[in-house]
Amino acid sequence: MNWTEYCLQLRRKIMRYNSDRRVNEYLLAGVKDTQQASDMSKHSSVLGYYFRVRKDVKDDCFDYDAVREKAGLYKKIDDMAYNAAYVMNGDVRDYNDAFVFQLAACNYCCPFCYVDDRNLNPRGKQVGWFSAKEIIEAFVEYRDKLPMNRIRISGGEPGLVPELWLEVLDQLAIKSISDRSLQKVFVYADTNLSGYYLTEFLMSDVNGRVLDRDVFKKIAEFHNFAVWGSIKGNDGDTFLESTGLPERHRGLALIWERMLEWLVSDGLDVYINVYNFEPQAMKLFLDKIFHKFGEKFLLRTWIQPIKIYSVVRDRLYQRGVVPDDYEKLLDDRLRENINIINRYLDERMGMSYRQMQRY
Ligand code: SF4
Repeated sequence: MNWTEYCLQLRRKIMRYNSDRRVNEYLLAGVKDTQQASDMSKHSSVLGYYFRVRKDVKDDCFDYDAVREKAGLYKKIDDMAYNAAYVMNGDVRDYNDAFVFQLAACNYCCPFCYVDDRNLNPRGKQVGWFSAKEIIEAFVEYRDKLPMNRIRISGGEPGLVPELWLEVLDQLAIKSISDRSLQKVFVYADTNLSGYYLTEFLMSDVNGRVLDRDVFKKIAEFHNFAVWGSIKGNDGDTFLESTGLPERHRGLALIWERMLEWLVSDGLDVYINVYNFEPQAMKLFLDKIFHKFGEKFLLRTWIQPIKIYSVVRDRLYQRGVVPDDYEKLLDDRLRENINIINRYLDERMGMSYRQMQRY
């Protein structure tokens, strides 16, 4: 099975057309009673069975500039809440709680994924079908008790079903007519930026086009949306190591580039998070970002640390990897990459890495 067929097969498992209700339905993972839920209990709590709320910024970190002055910056700040508040011209405190739901499949098998394996498997028993309307209804219901102004479409890989991004935005806009407070809600979609060939296939007339060719352009018309893109590994070796894909998929190491180009040229706002990069190939990556996507994207590129949660530890043992050794390797790479991007930004732009929040 080639890559496109594989992605297509996963997509069919997590999306169906319900002809009775005449709507698309999507398979969500149940997060209650998972290792993920207990691993993340400090900043994320489960709402019911399929949803959770995640706090991005710790209480003592709301003043971005003050925290930046302290050495703990890299650990303390996740800037999604800041970013949403900036775009929506609001207060970061109003954007700190995110309503999160997870699609029940991913085309990668990253060893460091914080999601339980059962929730990356669409055949699992803890999954449920939802339309975008039902997801938004659940959001509105929980929002009555807990004010939230951020929705995060997560996974699994939301890039397998980009029409869901648009449907969520549409349903939110419909609900906003009767509840104007919903107009300040911001939506993020996570993606590992691997969907290029699948999306091309779905939009092709030869294959009986099932996806609107303008889906990304239509999404870009909403001002309250951004893509949270992740790139796993920056050369063949780190790509395969990070994604858990077999050797025959080595050629996909740069698939992110084509997908990113597509999303950006269709007008979407994209933020880049990189994981487990090989330091020796870091400068090449930064040059590419700078020349292809521009200065703004350099400042939007953040090197993310990888936490070895209990679910990751168990998975690593199963794959014959010693978790502490792996953690050290990742930490060493992270530190080296931060030094490289610091020097790079200083030389090109006279500023240091993460000197300001991402806009
Ligand atoms: S791409 Fe994300 S969701 Fe998919 S396996 Fe990797 S970390 Fe998990």
